Amino acid sequence: MQIIEFKDDDAAYMEWSRNHQDGLVLNVSNNFKEIMLHKPLCSHISTYDHRIDKDVGFTKNMKVCGMTVDELENWAGRNGDAISNRCKNCKP
Ligand SMILES: [Zn+2]
Repeated sequence: MQIIEFKDDDAAYMEWSRNHQDGLVLNVSNNFKEIMLHKPLCSHISTYDHRIDKDVGFTKNMKVCGMTVDELENWAGRNGDAISNRCKNCKP
């Protein structure tokens, strides 16, 4: 499967989320120090109330999308450290 990174492109990210509701999303923040695993429909990464910056968008923090935890863990290992946390809201 393919890992897709979205940065400063909310429209593409939202389209991926709609089309891959059984996938997984990493929310990458603080310059790769925090890598949180979510499901695509989690309100924390899909509703505007939870955006980090209301004027920017979801993908100010890079979103890394894939279909399995394994491939996202590999991505995290290559690019930052490891998946820091699994979201307590959507429980991926
Ligand atoms: Zn979540």
